[in-house]
Amino acid sequence: MKLKTITFARCFFPWLLLSGCQPSNQLYQSDSLYVFGTLVNVSIWGVPEPQARAAVNTVAQELQRLHQEWHAWQPGPLTELNQAFATGKSREVTAPTLLSLVEQAKFFYKLTDGLFNPAIGRLIELWGFHQDEMPVGPPPAAANIAKLVALAPTMEDVIIDGNQVSSKNPAVQLDFGGIGKGYAVDLAINQLRQLGIQNAIVNAGGNLKVMGKKGKYPWLIGIRHPSGQGVLAAVTTNGEESVITSGNYERYREYQGQHYSHILDPRNGMPAQTLTSVTVIACSGALADVATTALSVAGLADWYRIAKPMGLKLVMLVDNQGTVYLSPAMAERVKFESNQSPTVVLSEPL
Ligand code: ADP
Ligand code: MG
Repeated sequence: MKLKTITFARCFFPWLLLSGCQPSNQLYQSDSLYVFGTLVNVSIWGVPEPQARAAVNTVAQELQRLHQEWHAWQPGPLTELNQAFATGKSREVTAPTLLSLVEQAKFFYKLTDGLFNPAIGRLIELWGFHQDEMPVGPPPAAANIAKLVALAPTMEDVIIDGNQVSSKNPAVQLDFGGIGKGYAVDLAINQLRQLGIQNAIVNAGGNLKVMGKKGKYPWLIGIRHPSGQGVLAAVTTNGEESVITSGNYERYREYQGQHYSHILDPRNGMPAQTLTSVTVIACSGALADVATTALSVAGLADWYRIAKPMGLKLVMLVDNQGTVYLSPAMAERVKFESNQSPTVVLSEPL
């Protein structure tokens, strides 16, 4: 929340002198951009439309650049780094956001007791998730999964020495699908702020961050129903916050009536299956994104153990029966849609 300290007078007054008119009370909504394999939408409140439009164009270019820099399978800086790991070489990482992702990933790997492990790119690829389309056909052979799990790639294997990055384990293949969109919305909100915007939402397919308000009111965010149809609930936001939902409905493999999630348990290489949707609200988008992945892996029995050291307060889980689990702080933020009346269970306070 540190970054939110720009005062109204400081931002508003110079703008008045330049334009000679009142700030707009219009909501500007961008066209959908296709980045990170998902639709990205930006909403901006309180500035004239040309300013909002120009800001969105700048942010869109930056997001496209990040997408290219972090892509897990299209040739670029990350695939080059993975190639170096596979051949036991060290590589200089010049893209600052990529280096930052590697650093953050190491930190979050430890914080989540290894449940968030973006070093398992080979497993993610084996399950068929290194393509834009949904994978089809039977799941990979158990022996092939076991082989990759036994190679035990972790973020501890990754060594950062200045700009030089290497891996002690050639089986490490980085895949930032579980943090990239959260980090991207952090960067996008920062960039909008630098462009003089104080009230906005950046939404990358359910990975979103807000700042400010919509006029007098806090931004209200809809949480998609885990079935993929309609809205389950709305949550109110408070200043600069990220609201991130990971659901099994977005990306999965379907075979003979079985649904295989794209979130994998690094301990056995199998899809995490006990929760259909996890929503986390936190200041940092990167942290919230990691948390949704790690809590999905932890599942219903173990999520609290992981959430506590992460400092999470606002968590909502939906299990396969549609039962909703809320942390007490989240319960104060959530309002279920009038056509939804799920069984709700309150957790211990976090
Ligand atoms: P979404 O992409 O729908 O927002 P997530 O944030 O949960 O979903 O990220 C899922 C992605 O993270 C997968 O597609 C894969 O690229 C990667 N991933 C899967 N399992 C793990 C894991 N245990 N740790 C880190 N990253 C993972
Ligand atoms: Mg996530």
